[in-house]
Amino acid sequence: MLNKRQVIVVGSGPAGASAAFYLATNGVDVLMVDKETWPRDKVCGDSQAQNFVSKVYKDMGIYEEVQKVCGYGIRKAFYGGVKEDPAMFDFGGDLSNSFLLQRRIIDDMLRRGAMRVGADFLENFEVTEVIRERGFAKGIRGIYGGKLVELRADAVILANGSHNNLGKPFGIMHLDPELVYIAARGYFRNVRGAEPGCFEEHLVFPEMYPSGYFWSFLLRDDIANVGVFISEKSLIKSNCRLEDYITRWRDTTRIGGERLGESELIGEIKGWRLTTSREVRDDIYGNGILAVGDAGGHINCHSGGGFEFALQSGYAAGMTLPDLLKKGDVSREALRAFYELDAQLINPFMKINTAVHDKVSCDPEIYERFIAFAKEMPDYPNFDQYTAYCMFMMVEQDVDLTEECGIDLVAMNQQQANYEQLPSKL
Ligand SMILES: Cc1cc2nc3c(=O)[nH]c(=O)nc-3n(C[C@H](O)[C@H](O)[C@H](O)COP(=O)(O)OP(=O)(O)OC[C@H]3O[C@@H](n4cnc5c(N)ncnc54)[C@H](O)[C@@H]3O)c2cc1C
Repeated sequence: MLNKRQVIVVGSGPAGASAAFYLATNGVDVLMVDKETWPRDKVCGDSQAQNFVSKVYKDMGIYEEVQKVCGYGIRKAFYGGVKEDPAMFDFGGDLSNSFLLQRRIIDDMLRRGAMRVGADFLENFEVTEVIRERGFAKGIRGIYGGKLVELRADAVILANGSHNNLGKPFGIMHLDPELVYIAARGYFRNVRGAEPGCFEEHLVFPEMYPSGYFWSFLLRDDIANVGVFISEKSLIKSNCRLEDYITRWRDTTRIGGERLGESELIGEIKGWRLTTSREVRDDIYGNGILAVGDAGGHINCHSGGGFEFALQSGYAAGMTLPDLLKKGDVSREALRAFYELDAQLINPFMKINTAVHDKVSCDPEIYERFIAFAKEMPDYPNFDQYTAYCMFMMVEQDVDLTEECGIDLVAMNQQQANYEQLPSKL
């Protein structure tokens, strides 16, 4: 273990692995450290959706392997409100860019992908502090092999997930309590009515608004990932535990009863927090330091999805830092290049989810109107839920998506389609 590196990445989940992969691809000497023993589990719904995910899998050379081990791609979505009369969107047979795969498996593939191109890795290394000298991040201190160890670097990337406190001395990420969510998941056998390749969200109890829901995603081998997502504020107010919510869904609702009535829980229900955002934030970089993935709030506040954004923000770090390191300038001013690429990649999708959070899933009555509206749309059910959300906002609520929400749908679709063309090498 050399004690001076160009870049140290704290955390080797999808955000850290993606950053390390693109840095190493571009000739940077990079070390990832993670406090866990790998492969490690990650509490998640296990869905990995959208085109950027397949871009990274292809760049890393793991796309075929993922397809082999992945049970089902996502091709349908089932969305219901308090009346439990859901809309089913069937957006077709393209399984190539969305996956349902346990995080224990996919995260390890990503970590190994980064190591194959030269990123170094240390597990069981818990970072306790980022070294700060004259206002700049200069490395890390942490516990490794029972000892306090210090490693120096020209820049530090925080990819340590949603419990990130390491960036505080650098002014990184002051949390907005309105946007902190909590979610829990369990693996269940014998879940009835869950379809292969179908993404389900049920916003069934009034206190789940805005944007709380139950999900049920069928993975391979008859096992489903079932969970609940709710704002921390609502959860505290309800005085319930997340496990109680899952039991209540099973015992008091039609769809919950069908999914879980005869199911068997495998292992435990586990919860985790989600530091969601309304857009890419300007407080995720400082002198010699930047935050990617959950550590930088890259989770959308409507669905809680953050896997794709983790990969995107890692890419933004990996594609901007090499030049800055060459120039010897990693000041906050210079690192704005990271923020700009990050925002350019992610913001259109963050903004659309924020609009849904504010204008569609904000209230049970509005959400029911959305479901009814979607079912009346021409071509129903052959489009995706985002098409339905946007049509509902434009037609039913008279929302100008561009003016009010900064969303350019044409540019957004173009951007999705062009991801594969983005370079992986500078
Ligand atoms: C219940 C739940 C369900 C979800 N479902 C979905 C979903 O279906 N689809 C989706 O897209 N997103 C989902 N998300 C969000 C998604 O899990 C995250 O956005 C994603 O994991 C972010 O990746 P990351 O690399 O930033 O962080 P993580 O995956 O959390 O990785 C952080 C890593 O940092 C390490 N670490 C932490 N602290 C330290 C330290 N001090 N020193 C060293 N290492 C450290 C950890 O061990 C970990 O390996 C869900 C989240 C939750 C909680």
